Amino acid sequence: MLGSLQLLQPTTVDEASGALRDFAERGKIYAGGAELLLLMRHGLLQSEILVDVKKIERLHGITWNDGALSVGACVTHRALETSSLVREHAPSFAYAESQVANVRVRNQGTLGGNLCFNDPHSDPGTVLLVHNASVTLGSQRGERQIQLHDFFLDVYETALKPDELMLDVQIPPLPVGMISSYLRLHRYQRPTLGVAAAVRMNDKTIAESRLAVGCIGPKCQRLPELETKINGTQLSHAKRIFAEQKNYLRDLLQPVDDLLGSADYKLYMIGVLLGGALEQAAQSKGKSY
Ligand SMILES: Cc1cc2nc3c(=O)[nH]c(=O)nc-3n(C[C@H](O)[C@H](O)[C@H](O)COP(=O)(O)OP(=O)(O)OC[C@H]3O[C@@H](n4cnc5c(N)ncnc54)[C@H](O)[C@@H]3O)c2cc1C
Repeated sequence: MLGSLQLLQPTTVDEASGALRDFAERGKIYAGGAELLLLMRHGLLQSEILVDVKKIERLHGITWNDGALSVGACVTHRALETSSLVREHAPSFAYAESQVANVRVRNQGTLGGNLCFNDPHSDPGTVLLVHNASVTLGSQRGERQIQLHDFFLDVYETALKPDELMLDVQIPPLPVGMISSYLRLHRYQRPTLGVAAAVRMNDKTIAESRLAVGCIGPKCQRLPELETKINGTQLSHAKRIFAEQKNYLRDLLQPVDDLLGSADYKLYMIGVLLGGALEQAAQSKGKSY
């Protein structure tokens, strides 16, 4: 059961940030409520005041601006999955969005809520890392833009200051000729493991690559050392490299044994899924998943 709650519905970023500052620990930003209400219902989070940010126009809309997609923080997973702009400029991101939970959660949950909650078992962040996405954060003190990989700090921890809200996410397209793919493994609705691979091929050789892994460590991460190692190799060789890099992946991603599988199993499956995603991207000739 939820206790009595006060609901504020600010219409500007300034007003919402002012409420967060005034109410401090007593107030929480509320977007779709998919995570927030669940936590409150289970008594894991207390709040007296919900600051509903969905009435702020600045937090809505999917647009193509200055050579990048711009997605408002309150855009739902379902809107992203079905957007023709997203399918055109970031198809593997649209695909990842279509894999989130079920259509009820996708209609309710927002991209901003997903990224700000920073649950490790999430899909969108992993694909957004291969797009070099950045986020705009705003408060009464103004706006700032930071890279998504700097926004994720640790499990459920982000670079958001107490009076800040996420305004939008900028998603540059991949470089010309580069194609990406997203693969996930799941036993329940939330993913056990998600990998994104983007590749530009020069005949049979990997000319350029971007790799990211999510879910098995505290936060999703790019794999820069592995990217360098596979550039200039052929697909079959790159797959062998993935299988040999368990120590690098263990140190970087810090997998743990849990009900979803042992750390060793997850490390093994990263190699398998990275190989699969890379192959899918390399062979998809203009399409991506
Ligand atoms: C049953 C279930 C299955 C799920 N499966 C998946 C899955 O397969 N893959 C996946 O990726 N995710 C999954 N999720 C997570 C889901 O995607 C998120 O719950 C959803 O995106 C959160 O968005 P929301 O708008 O509902 O956030 P809310 O619940 O409203 O908020 C979540 C947190 O973010 C903060 N917040 C929200 N918006 C902002 C903002 N603009 N600025 C600053 N802080 C903000 C809130 O204060 C709160 O702390 C699942 C969730 C459920 C309940």
